[in-house]
Amino acid sequence: MKIYNSLNEIRVDIRTGATSCKQLVEGYLANIETKKHLNAFVEIYAQEALVKAVEIDVKIANGTAGLLAGMVIGLKDVLCHKNHGLQAGSKILDKFQSQFNGTAVQRLIDADAIIIGRQNCDEFAMGSSNENSSFGKVLNDLDNSKVPGGSSGGSAAAVQANMCLASIGSDTGGSVRQPAAFCGVIGLKPTYSRISRYGLVAYASSFDCIGPITRSIEDAALLLEVMAGKDENDSTVSYTEVPNYVANLAFDKKAKVGYLKESFGDGVSTATKASTHQALELLRNAGHEVEEIEFPLLDYTLPAYYILTTAEASSNLSRFDGVKYGYRSPDATDLQSMYKKSRGEGFGKEVKKRIMLGTFILSAGFYDAYYSKAQKVRRLLKEETERIFQKFDFIVIPTTPNTAFKIGEHAGDPISMYLADLFTVHANLVGIPAISIPNGNDEVGMPIGLQIMTKSFGEQNLLAFSKYMMEISKN
Ligand code: GLN
Repeated sequence: MKIYNSLNEIRVDIRTGATSCKQLVEGYLANIETKKHLNAFVEIYAQEALVKAVEIDVKIANGTAGLLAGMVIGLKDVLCHKNHGLQAGSKILDKFQSQFNGTAVQRLIDADAIIIGRQNCDEFAMGSSNENSSFGKVLNDLDNSKVPGGSSGGSAAAVQANMCLASIGSDTGGSVRQPAAFCGVIGLKPTYSRISRYGLVAYASSFDCIGPITRSIEDAALLLEVMAGKDENDSTVSYTEVPNYVANLAFDKKAKVGYLKESFGDGVSTATKASTHQALELLRNAGHEVEEIEFPLLDYTLPAYYILTTAEASSNLSRFDGVKYGYRSPDATDLQSMYKKSRGEGFGKEVKKRIMLGTFILSAGFYDAYYSKAQKVRRLLKEETERIFQKFDFIVIPTTPNTAFKIGEHAGDPISMYLADLFTVHANLVGIPAISIPNGNDEVGMPIGLQIMTKSFGEQNLLAFSKYMMEISKN
């Protein structure tokens, strides 16, 4: 099948009769088959997607099709999709089926998106490499000995390998942007509360965001537009009006761009530094103001992130107990042993580690030393970031310090794994929107991501600027 980079391209071909939704689904299904070894999908809805495609072809012919007609997407295994499996990459949700559609998923369906399957991810979205899934690891299509990033690794690899046009992932500390960077595609984390979290399996509720992974800015804008907005099922969702992002993607202003000095420090690869500098240089040459910002708080972002998210996760994951649904240990002898064995056998190593850490952090004796302190750091970060955005329109830094690493490379060293999120957790701690766009490749051809951040609810500007950036850098 021809490689499509945006729904616009597909629309043109549908209009001229060069393709149809049915042919698109058949094409993507064939690609899924060829790229099976990547392990990007945990379940494929072949028949259902074909039936839906035929329905939408009729709607297109009748002029009644929705905004997403022609868009074939995959859903990360943390999004509730009625009567479909939902396991968050975990054995503890063995055989679980969702009873309802999450708000974002319902809106995608209502707009005539075709859901082709459920995508592999790190267990409960905890990880940076997609090596922590009960369905096994996912491979990077550009180099099968490397990871696709995580936790939305299956979602990013699926877009990278043309197994669907777009994916919907979730981003708590970088899980949409980091795998997008590792796979050479686009990943958008919107402002916290921009998209309802109803029907998203909770990891750390004050951080979690749903976000699209795409091959074009237009598709990211379109998917955001469809999914965003008020929802009576999520008390934290924003009622700020959703702009028509797609209609306003031209960027014709002069921007004030800041980059963080600390994001060019030790541990950041030479190729990453070089490609980021090059992007900043392009902006300078095009007449934008580019300035260095000192941001010593960067050192505190990862510790604050891991304290707060493990605390929230330990509370959120307490609901999985083997009583009403999911995995129950067959060896339980009484109530206590049922809880212990079901959770002990159902959760994987990384998740258990985080539940224990989070429980410790929230324990009476240590709450103030860890949880309260990390909350204070979060507040400081927020204030400092707001101060930056009084002066600057965008912060532009690398998405990750390094490109995709070898499978197993960080297996024995969690801290080195956590460093992959060094530049992405900031946006989640503060709640601002951030995007990763492709920005060249390293010496061995692996993609480098460029991260652009802006102030809360600045998605319109962020998307337009990202499109402009991709045009001037020809990525
Ligand atoms: N890698 C980070 C973590 O393990 C981010 C995960 C995410 O955004 N879901 O917490």
